Amino acid sequence: MPARPAQLPPFLVCLAALAPAMAQSAPPRDRVVLVDGKELRGRVVHEDANEVLLRVGTTDKAIARKLVREVHAVAAHHRELLQQWRGSSPEDPVAMLRLARQADEQGLPHEARLFRWYALLQRPDDVELHNALGNRRAGKQWLVALGDKRVPFDRADAMGVDFAAAWRLRSEHFDLRCAAGLRTTLDTLLELEGQYHAFHAAYGDAVRLLELCEPIPVHVYRDRAQMPQQSGAIGAYYKPDEATLFTCCENGRAYALAHEATHALLHHTFGRALRAKGELPAWLDEAWAEHFAGRLQTRVPGKPVLLDRSVQPAHRTTLAQIAADELLTVQRVLNLQQGDFQASTGQASKYAQAWALFTFLCEHDDAAIRATFVDYLRQAAAGKGQSSTFRKLFAPHERLLPDAWR
Ligand SMILES: [Zn+2]
Repeated sequence: MPARPAQLPPFLVCLAALAPAMAQSAPPRDRVVLVDGKELRGRVVHEDANEVLLRVGTTDKAIARKLVREVHAVAAHHRELLQQWRGSSPEDPVAMLRLARQADEQGLPHEARLFRWYALLQRPDDVELHNALGNRRAGKQWLVALGDKRVPFDRADAMGVDFAAAWRLRSEHFDLRCAAGLRTTLDTLLELEGQYHAFHAAYGDAVRLLELCEPIPVHVYRDRAQMPQQSGAIGAYYKPDEATLFTCCENGRAYALAHEATHALLHHTFGRALRAKGELPAWLDEAWAEHFAGRLQTRVPGKPVLLDRSVQPAHRTTLAQIAADELLTVQRVLNLQQGDFQASTGQASKYAQAWALFTFLCEHDDAAIRATFVDYLRQAAAGKGQSSTFRKLFAPHERLLPDAWR
């Protein structure tokens, strides 16, 4: 596992811009069977003990759980498939083909293709696999589609020196262009899908996270030098106005993927989705991204593991090094703007303090404080995350808050 730098370098930024909210209508891939035998079609975007939320077109219908006999939903099938994947080796073509068939049966065509690509890496001459993936034969070679070109399979990874000839593959929730080779493309998509489910598992009880029905575009460049020139040596960012995550390959992995994927998921969920209420305040957006990144153990590519608590040793070190009189006040942290996080002065301490405040409240031993933080997150998701909301909610605990920096 690559060590995190002690100081957070100036590239973990999120370019702020307001994007218009967009209605996510969803094709009816799911089925809900009621106890009276009636069958409803649509997309199940949320399920809990009390209700099933079914999206039909752009309308979400809440159906009381007691009226429901069966639910057949992409979201649940996808979660099961990803669990199977965790216990399977990508070097085992038989296991990959088993997953591909399972994905076929469960109406997950993108994942079915991903597992066939994994199998093809182990069996590059398999005629049936090439045919199933739509590759064309030309003499002794197999040609694969990269952008609008067809290139020999064994040379496809080399084409990525030009981003226009990057691999372009889909998964259920992500649309990836990756110039770092087929294996990295596949691993990155599975990593993102693992993060998607971990994100829902980590925060889905606190804030109502609906199934994402529109894929998030992701660009992974071959290296930092290939990234479009934004500002200096930025290694990863999420652009709300394009609703797209940009990052590059470093040491064989997509750089800062969990941090930026959090921005993408938060924006697609609260800023852009159907009936979304608005953007989160900058401190919360950055703190949440760092909290989630700290909750993932990412030793095996494509298979992130959700931890019980957010582990960020670099932030702890930073906090220990800030002199008491240089710590920002809670009020100042709440009022930090995107530009403050991008400015190089004191950048590491701003991220460390934002992460510490989120982590302190989210993981506090006192259930009343955790519940108050959940209230705040819900208000923020409803577009009311201003510092006045925070101050009002936490007024009874005000004197406790600076303990966050300890
Ligand atoms: Zn960020």
